[in-house]
Amino acid sequence: MSNRRPEQQARLTSKKHSDVALTVPAFLDTIRYHARYSLGKRWGLCSGRELFTAVALAVRDALIDRMLETEDRYQQTDPKRVHYLSMEYLLGRSLKNNLSNLRMLDLCRDALRKMGVDFEEVMEGECEAALGNGGLGRLAACFLDSLATMGMPGYGYGLNYEYGLFKQDIDNGYQKEKPDNWLIHGSPWQIERPDEACIVPLYGRIEHGIDRAGQYNPMWMDWKIIVGVPHDMPIVGFGGQTVNVLRVYSARSSAEFDMQIFNEGDYLKAVEQQIASETISKVLYPSDLVEAGRELRLVQEYLLVACTLRDIVRRYEKSHATFDQFASKVAIHLNDTHPALAVAELMRILVDEHAQPWEKAWETTQATLSYTNHTLMPEALEKWSVSLLEYVLPRHLQIIYEVNHRFLAQVASVWPDDHERLRRMSLIEEGEQKAVRMVNLALVGSHSTNGVSALHTQIVKTSLVPDFYQLWPEKFNTKTNGVTPRRWLLQANPLLADLITSTIGSDWITDLGKLRALEPYAQDPDFQQAFMMVRRSSKTLLTQIIYDRCRVAVSPDALFDVHVKRIHEYKRQLLNVMQIIHQYLRMIQDGITPPVPRVYIFAGKAAPGYWAAKQIIKLITSVGQVINADPRVQGLIKVVFLPDYRVSLAEQIVPATDVSEQISMAGTEASGTGNMKFAMNGALTIGTHDGATIEIMDEVGQENIFLFGLQVEEIRQMRAGGSYHPRTYYHRNPDIRRLMDTFASGLFCPDEPSRFRWIYESVLDRGDPYFHLADLESYIETQERVAQAFKDPVGWTCKAILNVARTGKFSSDRAIAEYAREIWNIKPSSSPPDATG
Ligand SMILES: *Cc1c(COP(=O)(O)O)cnc(C)c1O
Repeated sequence: MSNRRPEQQARLTSKKHSDVALTVPAFLDTIRYHARYSLGKRWGLCSGRELFTAVALAVRDALIDRMLETEDRYQQTDPKRVHYLSMEYLLGRSLKNNLSNLRMLDLCRDALRKMGVDFEEVMEGECEAALGNGGLGRLAACFLDSLATMGMPGYGYGLNYEYGLFKQDIDNGYQKEKPDNWLIHGSPWQIERPDEACIVPLYGRIEHGIDRAGQYNPMWMDWKIIVGVPHDMPIVGFGGQTVNVLRVYSARSSAEFDMQIFNEGDYLKAVEQQIASETISKVLYPSDLVEAGRELRLVQEYLLVACTLRDIVRRYEKSHATFDQFASKVAIHLNDTHPALAVAELMRILVDEHAQPWEKAWETTQATLSYTNHTLMPEALEKWSVSLLEYVLPRHLQIIYEVNHRFLAQVASVWPDDHERLRRMSLIEEGEQKAVRMVNLALVGSHSTNGVSALHTQIVKTSLVPDFYQLWPEKFNTKTNGVTPRRWLLQANPLLADLITSTIGSDWITDLGKLRALEPYAQDPDFQQAFMMVRRSSKTLLTQIIYDRCRVAVSPDALFDVHVKRIHEYKRQLLNVMQIIHQYLRMIQDGITPPVPRVYIFAGKAAPGYWAAKQIIKLITSVGQVINADPRVQGLIKVVFLPDYRVSLAEQIVPATDVSEQISMAGTEASGTGNMKFAMNGALTIGTHDGATIEIMDEVGQENIFLFGLQVEEIRQMRAGGSYHPRTYYHRNPDIRRLMDTFASGLFCPDEPSRFRWIYESVLDRGDPYFHLADLESYIETQERVAQAFKDPVGWTCKAILNVARTGKFSSDRAIAEYAREIWNIKPSSSPPDATG
């Protein structure tokens, strides 16, 4: 694979806002000013949260100056802009990120020290913005960082959920969900823009009219109205040259509409209506895959699409008289199908509101939109019932039918009389419950469809939508995911970042391919020594967190084996647990001690309605309870489950990880981004041939990664041929039999011995849909190799350094450079030479 570099590096110096411009005393004054006049508090009496708010407001001042400058620059040069539509942004905390990208981190630390305040404590005052579930939302956050760092004109659009992803408590070993009311005290990062509120019609009916020329002229009538109020969050790129905006909408009721009911005298009805409207952006749906079928979710998706498109069109119309240039000035990207209604909404705006002929509007729509597919899991492919769509968005359903009619005519002209194919490609799934297939809508309505790793794109082409690939092979492309090295290396792992910078300079921060310069140091004893010390510090910090949260004492000398991500059957946390139980039984029953002591670290949330995932959490905590208390294995093996996995916890875990578990069933993890964060920080991966893990192997070399298990094609053939029989493995391999029997015997749940019997039955009697037993032998052998390798600290460190040196490809800057060049056709925007003052 090539190692493309960002097209332009962020420039680190600014004419207007160089770092020296802001002194420690000046910054101190600004903080004190905000404590007094924004919060109305004496500095000395501020609570932790108020300290955070005062500091954040001082940082926000700097952000706003640069945001306005950036907007001026875009106004002057009118570059093409990308609008990234995503139902999720998993931002995490922003204070340290903003300071670091503004190059003000040290200045802020000094200022706070002068006031006798601990910076780390101030940071703890920030609520996390958890407006996302997992990988998809975190990808959107990394992409915003890269767009701004590379000076690209790019806006994020999303919803301002009042409640982010639930907080997770562990109670008696079970997950308990608690609401995350993150906005209760407001967020200093948000600037409300009531003047730019959008009015969005919903529900109602279609009047089938005829216009003066005798043409069919449908009218959408009697709709209800909700209002989307934008809140802008400044997104600063590294170096502070560009501050883009993430615009998130809150649903409000329409004052005008409610006034009507108020005047009719039904006060309570009017208030009820108001509450119903404001419910729309109340809560993020907590499933990492899809939440289809719910009316509220559909309305959320439409609110995002409707507000965003109005905003884009309003901005475009300010400087353009016709829509002829629309597609050359505006790119709109759909992060998964959640915003796919944009296809119908853009057509509605162009045809109904701007009287464009259908064909011309369609050309503009396709040329403007692009779409990223994120999943192949059949249960995650969005479908909306025709009856629900007809009720909520009658005009959009009509438009979708018209798009489908024309599209199927095109298909029929290419493949005459192929009715099966027409049925497969139709936007409408026929059957008892007719439904709109959102993948098909997104595909038909956009000029580009990309997968998120080479393997994933291959499967999209050959098995998800092969008919569409045959029709439009040129539409399909790959954009392997990436993560931002600013958050995931520079901030999360400052010790390693400093070691790298003092060895090869700091260019890697905006050009991660530069890490290759570390390769020669992999064999250098001094560098190895320094690298090992950095890792030991991070592991020591994590042991403290593990003790605080789990009351389990672990040694930083043990191998830290980490499996953190959403809990899902396809991600196979269960496979890891099976392996752990096997290790434990070998110790207590066979008297075999493992080559190295290990700490198995799990974290992750289960969707509240996902029973099996929640049971797996209980299994992990139960196995941990038995093993951690067993004196026979003291100092050899520990199992911990860290509650409430979230961005800030990931930032603490990643630098302390020796082994990164990426063991999804091949063909199910579209890309993964956790895998990239770990490798970039010097963890070695144990993983399957899945998603971007394959590309990590291509980069770091086979000898520096531990891949195992069946590959996609083998699994496909076993499935198709009906040749996978988990019982065979159970009978053939006494180790597998022994560990599987513990699920039936109640060894790990003596208080309720049948609790985990469902696992025994699901795997042995119900076909083991995620192929645990098919991969278990190979996984156990590979874990043995991992342990042997860890026994040699120098050899291990050498591999770890090579992982850091060779993971430059997985910067989100590389991903964004590819999107910009190959899909969006946008360029970095720098000041015009004559426009700087
Ligand atoms: C990176 C990240 C994810 C995605 O992890 P995967 O291993 O790719 O599923 C999920 N949650 C958080 C908090 C993350 O930082």
